[in-house]
Amino acid sequence: MKLLKDRILRDGKSFEGGILKVDSFINHQMDPILMKSIGVEFVRRFGHLPINKIVTIEASGIAPAIMLGYLLELPVVFVKKAVPKTMENMLTASVYSFTKDKTYDICVSRDFLTADDRVVFIDDFLANGNAAIGVHELVEKAGAQVLGMGFIIEKSFQQGHLRLRELNIPIESLARVKTLGNNKVEFED
Ligand code: 5GP
Repeated sequence: MKLLKDRILRDGKSFEGGILKVDSFINHQMDPILMKSIGVEFVRRFGHLPINKIVTIEASGIAPAIMLGYLLELPVVFVKKAVPKTMENMLTASVYSFTKDKTYDICVSRDFLTADDRVVFIDDFLANGNAAIGVHELVEKAGAQVLGMGFIIEKSFQQGHLRLRELNIPIESLARVKTLGNNKVEFED
């Protein structure tokens, strides 16, 4: 997606350790016009699938997931990263965070994810695939099915795409970053 790649080149910041910072337009301050275009692109890639729900994980997956849900007129469920005391019928899984270097529990209520659901999972980044694999596990525990996974940015030099391919689910990434250097970003073709 050219618009997105141009924006990453203009406003993204890359750091040692393979981190790309996009907090001026995705992760902290957000550009809703770009986010709408991202939603439109996800519709182009997933609109043909027989889904009834979008699933994401808080916090940065929520904006693109809502754009997609709005355009397809489907509900959006966000998996939580902190386990609330008040949640009923809770399902949980463990996820290792690459950026925070720690393992945490994620959860969702069975009230909003059931065996009738066919979902697309949306997130901001695909790095090592841990968040996506954790959410996939939750969806399976609910008896639901993931029919597609979409990421705004994939870091193809990490293991996520390879690991997710084993799930045999279509994966769509709108910008695939091949290398990240000191303020240098290169994309896959
Ligand atoms: P994974 O679970 O695929 O290893 O990592 C994906 C999650 O880690 C994303 O939800 C995202 O929040 C965070 N993440 C991974 N790499 C980056 C990065 O380079 N920049 C930012 N901003 N977040 C990242």
